Amino acid sequence: MRLLLVEDSQRLQELLGDSLTSAGYRLDKASTVAELDSMIEAVNYDLLIVDLGLPDGDGLTAIRGLRAKGITTPILIITARGSIDDRVSGLDSGADDYLIKPFNHSELLARVRALLRRPSDLHGPILKRGSLEFDDAKGEVRSGGKLVELRLSERRLLGTLMRRSGTVVTKAAIEEGLSQFGRELSSNAVEALVSRVRKALAEAGSEVSIETVRGVGYRLVEDSPKTNG
Ligand code: CA
Repeated sequence: MRLLLVEDSQRLQELLGDSLTSAGYRLDKASTVAELDSMIEAVNYDLLIVDLGLPDGDGLTAIRGLRAKGITTPILIITARGSIDDRVSGLDSGADDYLIKPFNHSELLARVRALLRRPSDLHGPILKRGSLEFDDAKGEVRSGGKLVELRLSERRLLGTLMRRSGTVVTKAAIEEGLSQFGRELSSNAVEALVSRVRKALAEAGSEVSIETVRGVGYRLVEDSPKTNG
């Protein structure tokens, strides 16, 4: 796995670099938007970790530019800009996840793992998370092999969250995904839909849950294993 870290603070570059390389990733480093642009032309990275405040430009604009060029490499934003509006615009720019400085290195590694898991998962006809299986072709959701009864809109929501498991999916992205499906949805409708899917997952004992990221959207997470005694 080859990663590119774009961060202009020398100190952070070293600290994060150490964490990532000791976790076994091959890591390249860049400090500017210009370096990011030229390195991504030369190497096919598995993940980009991008700071927003860069000396020669804004990371958000750079990310929008990459997506406009059709580059689909997963992108994790690392930044000190932590307001809800900042997070939403970060994710709307085409980034896949967002980490606010200062953060714990183990959290960084967890987000990196979640983002790197995605591409291979996308190729399979069946998405799996914990005991939950989503068969897009058949339109079936199973928990521990048992069919979970869901309406079409509920399955669609769950499919979106499972495809992007571990990362935040904005409410706007969910609304868009569902409106393509035939009708516009209000924010309240998304909340109601999420709560119905949550209930169905809990009743099925699915070992995954939908976390609310306040003001931003939702994230599908695998429940930590229960300990006995
Ligand atoms: Ca910076």
